[in-house]
Amino acid sequence: TIILGIESSCDDTSAAVIADGILLSNVIANQDVHKAYGGVVPELASRAHQQNIIPVVYEALERAGITSDQLNAVAFTRGPGLMGSLLVGTSFAKGLALSLNLPLIDVNHLQGHVLAHFIQEKDHDFAPPAFPFLCLLVSGGNSQIVLVKSYYDMEIIGQTIDDAAGEAFDKCAKVMGLPYPGGPVVDRLAKEGAPDAFVFSKPQIKGYDYSFSGLKTSFLYTIRDHLKEDPFFIQRHTNDLCASLQNTIIEILMEKLRKAAFDLNIRDVAVAGGVSANSGLRKAFVEHGEKYHWNVFIPKFAFTTDNAAMIAITGYYKYLNKQFCDIDLPPFSKTTIA
Ligand code: ATP
Ligand code: FE
Repeated sequence: TIILGIESSCDDTSAAVIADGILLSNVIANQDVHKAYGGVVPELASRAHQQNIIPVVYEALERAGITSDQLNAVAFTRGPGLMGSLLVGTSFAKGLALSLNLPLIDVNHLQGHVLAHFIQEKDHDFAPPAFPFLCLLVSGGNSQIVLVKSYYDMEIIGQTIDDAAGEAFDKCAKVMGLPYPGGPVVDRLAKEGAPDAFVFSKPQIKGYDYSFSGLKTSFLYTIRDHLKEDPFFIQRHTNDLCASLQNTIIEILMEKLRKAAFDLNIRDVAVAGGVSANSGLRKAFVEHGEKYHWNVFIPKFAFTTDNAAMIAITGYYKYLNKQFCDIDLPPFSKTTIA
């Protein structure tokens, strides 16, 4: 069974081929046009997707060493994401499926981030989490704790009531004048800073939910207050600010995850989404694994941020379950998982 996956939900155009669960290719075209604007400009994103989609899909087929007539189905990201971006991938997938007379499979982007843990690569060890497991899904648009009962059945048991973790990284980075996206930059600078140099406020929220808007305000006020005394405060303390910010975000994330793992008595704990690329968070996962005897699952860097391999693997499992969609199914911009 050979599945082509197409991802275009935000600012990465990606296509991947998966054969019997094994990844043959995963091509990603990033969009540099947004850097100058300090964030993704939706109209520019959809135009760049239009330019990228055909070459990206061709390259994915070529690298996989297959031709389009060998495909069994086309899987595409239906949502959530930017509507203009989703329309490009969705329309292309539909056109391709129609012309090749192939079934179409709609994939939820967030389910894709979670199922990235099931991507198998040739000549690589494969030890995926066992159901049911917990997945901390932390990305640019979402922060949630997902109880994963099967490939098809996922329940969000906690989620952010305001900003996502990735958004907190990006917005605070912007305050310091760092380039977009700020997450990876904060990660790099934090390595040279002290995580306890500054204390930022943490949310007091019941259950497994998250909140990051208070941290953002606390970060902003700390900087504003110090700037009154020292106009070069940010330049002088960038590394410490980054380390302390990152440390606070990780503490907030892990506290609720620990609570969920204890309450539900689950030991298989995974992390997914763009923020799972963060070196501090990855380290915290390893440490939690040792301390609490969790089996922790941390994705390869290539499968943390948006990629079509995770869409193709989700498409593969939906194919096995005969979950196809109609050609007139519209994309959606906002929703929850599965
Ligand atoms: P969603 O999946 O919720 O629709 P998205 O697709 O835009 O959102 P991803 O591509 O999964 O999000 O992740 C992008 C986010 O990950 C950005 O906020 C970025 O700053 C953050 N990020 C990437 N690398 C790192 C890192 N090393 N440390 C912290 N954050 C990071
Ligand atoms: Fe994403």
